[in-house]
Amino acid sequence: MNESSPNPLPDAVDVLVIGAGAAGLMCAATAGQRGRRVLVLDHANKVGKKILMSGGGRCNFTNLYTAPENFYSENPHFCKSALARYTQWDFIALVEQHGIPYHEKTLGQLFCDNRSKDIVDLLLAECRAARVQVRTRCDIESIVAEEGGYRLETGLGSVRCESLVIATGGLSIPTMGATGFGYDIARQFGLDIVPTRAALVPFTLHGRQLESQRELPGSALAVTARCGDGAFSEQMLFTHKGLSGPAVLQISSHWREGQKVSFDLAPGVDLCEWLQRQRAEKPDTHLHNVLAELWSKKLVQYFLQRRRLESRPLKQYSEKALAETGKQLQNWQLVPAGTEGYRTAEVTLGGVNTDGVSSRTMECKQQPGLYFIGEVLDVTGWLGGYNFQWAWASGHAAGEVV
Ligand SMILES: Cc1cc2nc3c(=O)[nH]c(=O)nc-3n(C[C@H](O)[C@H](O)[C@H](O)COP(=O)(O)OP(=O)(O)OC[C@H]3O[C@@H](n4cnc5c(N)ncnc54)[C@H](O)[C@@H]3O)c2cc1C
Repeated sequence: MNESSPNPLPDAVDVLVIGAGAAGLMCAATAGQRGRRVLVLDHANKVGKKILMSGGGRCNFTNLYTAPENFYSENPHFCKSALARYTQWDFIALVEQHGIPYHEKTLGQLFCDNRSKDIVDLLLAECRAARVQVRTRCDIESIVAEEGGYRLETGLGSVRCESLVIATGGLSIPTMGATGFGYDIARQFGLDIVPTRAALVPFTLHGRQLESQRELPGSALAVTARCGDGAFSEQMLFTHKGLSGPAVLQISSHWREGQKVSFDLAPGVDLCEWLQRQRAEKPDTHLHNVLAELWSKKLVQYFLQRRRLESRPLKQYSEKALAETGKQLQNWQLVPAGTEGYRTAEVTLGGVNTDGVSSRTMECKQQPGLYFIGEVLDVTGWLGGYNFQWAWASGHAAGEVV
């Protein structure tokens, strides 16, 4: 296997995979292990760039609790078959077989102890053992269906294959090589595209909303973020542009332009009841001082200012006023101006409509020999290792049949 070999491409292979990311490499290794002659082509200068940058450099490679409920798709049943046949336990076994140290961070999220590159090395080792050829810096110029397969014209020459697997991912982080190529190929062969949008992405705020939090970038707190039918209890982080942190990234997948997002700033606490109790126990303490037991002083000042609440000794508040304060802090509402978009989004919602694809094999129903796997499909996971698990599972499903 030589990623940037000067050798010409082979004239023909059994399986050609476009995209040397998580799904493509998993599919290639699986097919190669079955004895198929596999070639992987990628236009980027190196393989697995998103894996390398994932999980803050430590790749959150799966989640212990992966289940179909952790995925968004117009067809929520589509992901079930592949996820059941290649589970988180299968990938964990592979990680252990390669001696890669890992740990659970929180909520079942498994991260490498050392670096994301361990996962890329694992995939390349699996490909090498299966005699898979991987070539980078290769632009795909055209794809034509022929009798019994496909012919591709590429920047490195012409190549024919029996099975063609599209594993080119979504639109997030174009500087890392993301393109809409997979969607173009889907359209070329008559498949529909579910409209795409950036997800797992920070919110932006504008004007007075942003101005009012200018002292806060870097501050974080536990919240429950809610929008539509989504609710996530995790950390929220104030940024120079707006809001981020896991709770915000998760809820961004439920948010549409103009919608309100609400935040419970003290999840798990009944603030109305708690404030009444504080008043009974320490009637002379100022409101901001009791709230400082829950949040940093900076945050308390911000919350009080935003709600135009004066801080007085607790005994000066009526029961109703304290109840109202508690209610407001547990239902903090705002309308984000927008999101940071594909520039920083972790994933793309939408993609190749799964109606046209077999959930067992990932093969197009109307186009024999053409497969779509990974994020290019309309299957998008929550934050927390689910997106890689989908890449492994869908890549494996196709790899077993191509
Ligand atoms: C910053 C960041 C952090 C993330 N962290 C995590 C995490 O910790 N855990 C998790 O589960 N998920 C994470 N994700 C999401 C995860 O990286 C993706 O869901 C996953 O990589 C999708 O796998 P894929 O193989 O479908 O696509 P990709 O991994 O994106 O691979 C697609 C490949 O196709 C190639 N390609 C694209 N267009 C063309 C073309 N026209 N011609 C040839 N090749 C092409 C690309 O160069 C790339 O190598 C993160 C994403 C980002 C952006």
